[in-house]
Amino acid sequence: MQIENNKVATLHYTLKDNEGNILDQSEDGSFVYLHGALNIIPGLETALTGKTAGEELNVKVSPDDGYGVRSEEHMQEVPKEMFESDADIQVGMQFHAQGPDGQALMVTVAEIKDEAIVVDGNHPLAGMELNFDVKIIEVRDASDEEMEHGHVHSPEGCGH
Ligand code: ZN
Repeated sequence: MQIENNKVATLHYTLKDNEGNILDQSEDGSFVYLHGALNIIPGLETALTGKTAGEELNVKVSPDDGYGVRSEEHMQEVPKEMFESDADIQVGMQFHAQGPDGQALMVTVAEIKDEAIVVDGNHPLAGMELNFDVKIIEVRDASDEEMEHGHVHSPEGCGH
């Protein structure tokens, strides 16, 4: 069975940067996703299309097909009084914020100034070339419910 829209694929993957540092890997040995539902980055989804269980592939994904290019527009100065006064803010800390359209956003503290905190709303992997080593473990048909929800269900069900 080939990976295509409305199939559920189980993968082992390792994600490395161009220097070979491991950035991420499948937790507990495997990762399951619904193909064609934008559950994974477009570059990886395209590379997996038509592949079958047992195949291994190395995929290099450009920022455009990954987490996007870095944008200075996503850097923002937030007045310090917006934070709790006893909060111990440090560079590199990540927290949830709300984007301009009310969407949930993960931001990283980039710089601490006298009066303001500079936060970076770019995805931590934005602007990077991503190198995936992937092994396809299993491919199966998605259930009607999974297709309707646009994500994979565990044997226990939906989970939300
Ligand atoms: Zn669901």
